[in-house]
Amino acid sequence: MLNEKLLEVQNREIELLRLKTKLKELLKEKETKEKLLKELETKLESAHRKLEEKKKELKDLKDFILYKQERIEELKAQKERVKSRSEFKQILRQIAKNEDDIIKTKQEITKVEAEVETLADAYRKLKEELAPQVESVRSEIEDLEAEVEKLEKKIEKVSRDIEDLKEGIPEEELRRFEELKEKFNGLVFADISSGACEGCGMTFSPAEFKELLKNLEPGKTKCPYCGRFIYSKVATR
Ligand SMILES: [Zn+2]
Repeated sequence: MLNEKLLEVQNREIELLRLKTKLKELLKEKETKEKLLKELETKLESAHRKLEEKKKELKDLKDFILYKQERIEELKAQKERVKSRSEFKQILRQIAKNEDDIIKTKQEITKVEAEVETLADAYRKLKEELAPQVESVRSEIEDLEAEVEKLEKKIEKVSRDIEDLKEGIPEEELRRFEELKEKFNGLVFADISSGACEGCGMTFSPAEFKELLKNLEPGKTKCPYCGRFIYSKVATR
């Protein structure tokens, strides 16, 4: 067996594996960054929501005063039309009660206004503090996305290359190759140019290495230790 094309298939498959591992790492990193971004945004949103809720509370109090003022105007109009002294007194009491409510509400407003200011300040500070971080995490995510896209295209291309290569190889050879891949952990053809078998890691003695190189027939010669087909990337002879 050997076919230069099968060695090429092996090399591309190894590259594909490396690319897929890298892709997985990038996606994981992106996920981590996205989580961090979400946390930062949630912090900001929460501070903003607290501020908005307090503002709403303030508005409700102000509306309440407007309502009370209208009520007092109505009562004053009624007072002009009363028929009995007791009714007159009752209206006066109601007016006094509404005025009292206004005074209490105004005190409450002073307190809530101070709270609004505190919350606005806290929100502004938090924004200042987190904005640079949010920005940098966002740009990191963008970079990762670009890298992921590039890698996905590369993976697509290498996958296509593998398919194209396989088209030119007889089915029987491919079947055998798959079997050997299973047996040899994905590495059927091992380079020995470094003086050791790339497959099993065994270092050859100088004499042995010389002998192997001398008689090396790609696709036929096997590593004496692991049985993989050996070849030499560097023509040493
Ligand atoms: Zn070996």
